[in-house]
Amino acid sequence: KNEIKFDLVKPLPHELFDKDALKVYHRLKRNRFTTYFVGGCIRDLLLGNPPKDFDIVTSARPKQIRKLFHNSRIIGRRFRLVNVFFGKKVIEVTTFRKTPWENGEPENQKKLLIQNDNFFGSDEEDAMRRDFTINALFYCPDERVVVDYTGGLEDLQYGKVRTIGDSKIRLAEDPVRIIRAIKFAACLGFEMTPDLYKAVIQCSHFLERTPPARILLEMLKVLRTRKVYFCFDSLLKSGVLEVISPDLGNILHQSRTEPYRLLHRYFRALDALADSDRSELKDETLFTIICWSIFIHKNQKGRKMSFEIFENALEDTKNKLSLSKRLRQSIFNIIILQNIFDRKIKKKIPANSIPDMEAAIQVLKIRMLMGDVSEKSYHHWLAKSQRFS
Ligand code: ATP
Ligand code: MG
Repeated sequence: KNEIKFDLVKPLPHELFDKDALKVYHRLKRNRFTTYFVGGCIRDLLLGNPPKDFDIVTSARPKQIRKLFHNSRIIGRRFRLVNVFFGKKVIEVTTFRKTPWENGEPENQKKLLIQNDNFFGSDEEDAMRRDFTINALFYCPDERVVVDYTGGLEDLQYGKVRTIGDSKIRLAEDPVRIIRAIKFAACLGFEMTPDLYKAVIQCSHFLERTPPARILLEMLKVLRTRKVYFCFDSLLKSGVLEVISPDLGNILHQSRTEPYRLLHRYFRALDALADSDRSELKDETLFTIICWSIFIHKNQKGRKMSFEIFENALEDTKNKLSLSKRLRQSIFNIIILQNIFDRKIKKKIPANSIPDMEAAIQVLKIRMLMGDVSEKSYHHWLAKSQRFS
């Protein structure tokens, strides 16, 4: 165990921490539970980046946490944790847990897939079951101490994404870690260790037997980064994208086609968004241009757009990513709305697409950044849409 007094390296001032998260932390400590800040927030603060959210880890069990905070709720089945609410803000509090493999890893690779992740453990065990060393740092603001069980501090310093333990085993256990490795490397400008990169390529087909809903969640996180273009480039080059969506893989392998150019401009536009806009993006907004490019790819040009044709074009991606019927219907509505905005279809805004108006305006804004829509047209429809809300 490597405990480093962090003021010796770089101070991590209290002001950088979320006030409400500190309240949660202090109440748990006062009740004598071992408690730390953990994961992305510590990684980002040490790198000098603003954290997205503040996760807390503690020796208190979910029910004990629940009792300490009246404004909290236990959520999750596969992975139970407690959400503490402060208005719209949510602080996630998890209990230290260990890997489910009591007596070492099972020999059969297929049995490695983790189904249940609710085995409580010590802080060290909790660090060991996390995905990458840079995500396994604990920080205690009271004592200003970083607790590093896995060598994460050194990897942060040298810019390495390294699995905790054997890369192949850790990726087989939970294949969404493949997408996560690619995302962290692209976003932080880090390198994967050679064995991790090898494992990413060797294990990508494991994503075929990962619940599509979990893949979708990780892909939404990718689309909300500031490095969407890099992430997709790396997903493509490693062969991972072809497993997640063969159609998207196909499109991005065929440069100089319309869907290829559409996607590339889309990723660039996402990267150029202001952070305040990015944090507001809805799921359906993020997937509209992606589905649109697949539609064009599958249908070539000129075919009339009906929900049935759209559904057929999307067949493969919708299954692999478990895009829900509701999501698909919204995306379809948003595309129809774009055609109305572009005056390609001359009709009034259909009543059933009014709930999708907010997302449709977000898509219009992104298309403006892509250079496909004039500023004037965007502001015209923005003003108009406000009458619907
Ligand atoms: P971000 O800034 O993108 O939110 P993060 O590191 O906070 O990055 P989260 O997805 O919010 O990532 O997860 C929080 C922490 O939970 C991670 O830092 C990691 O320690 C752990 N974790 C998340 N997903 C996994 C996983 N699939 N396998 C192992 N550990 C995971
Ligand atoms: Mg996080």
